[in-house]
Amino acid sequence: MVKCREFFHNILNFVYPPVCPLCDAGVSTHGEFCADCWTAVNWIDGPKCAKCGYPFVSGYEPDGNVLCPTCAAGKSELDWIRSACVYDDASKQIMLPFKHVGKIKYARAMSNAMIWALRDVDVSNIDIVMPVPLAWRRLFHRGYNQASLLAGPIAHVIGVKLDFDSVRRKYRPDMGHKTARQRAENIRGVFRVVHPDKIRGKHILLVDDVMTSGATFSELRRVLMRAGATSVSGVSFCRVVHAI
Ligand SMILES: [Zn+2]
Ligand SMILES: [Zn+2]
Repeated sequence: MVKCREFFHNILNFVYPPVCPLCDAGVSTHGEFCADCWTAVNWIDGPKCAKCGYPFVSGYEPDGNVLCPTCAAGKSELDWIRSACVYDDASKQIMLPFKHVGKIKYARAMSNAMIWALRDVDVSNIDIVMPVPLAWRRLFHRGYNQASLLAGPIAHVIGVKLDFDSVRRKYRPDMGHKTARQRAENIRGVFRVVHPDKIRGKHILLVDDVMTSGATFSELRRVLMRAGATSVSGVSFCRVVHAI
């Protein structure tokens, strides 16, 4: 079986040689960024908050599990959150075309980076991987749910199913809300659990492309916990890092 898979893998590499999705430079494996593109991105690979994954300034090397001030004050709602990189000019070059210009060929490499971001958390208890739902109207216009494209390989690596349909999202125009409070108010009430039987008693991992204020994850967690979920964690490709 392994030999068979290897054979087809070699054929695939021969017919479609692996290239970096961003710049088309040759790479050794499908779904990876080349060294130059990898270096340009601000990956979260240094010390970070053990709970929400907030990256600490470089040079700070805490001993053991240290929490950021928000988590230390008990204000983080998800069990844990991890993100692969910081949202900045470099990661925008990946994120924005992926989300708005149909560059879905970036998905596999982004997803692999998110799997890498999960390296220091225990995912053995996760039962369901759930991409953050998109409202039907947005799905119709965009043609794809970008979070779903990222979630597939993550669910595969963890060895659990994807859940696309237990939660629906109402369409609400993006008003360009700036503050965390405005974002939280705008997202409140947009999610509705339609299959609570699939949620009850489950440990759920949410997947999104970008985490801005964390309001989307928090609101989704609120409705999932109310529907009987046991725990909710999250992973995003990138995250906005505010000074705290
Ligand atoms: Zn490249
Ligand atoms: Zn934290």
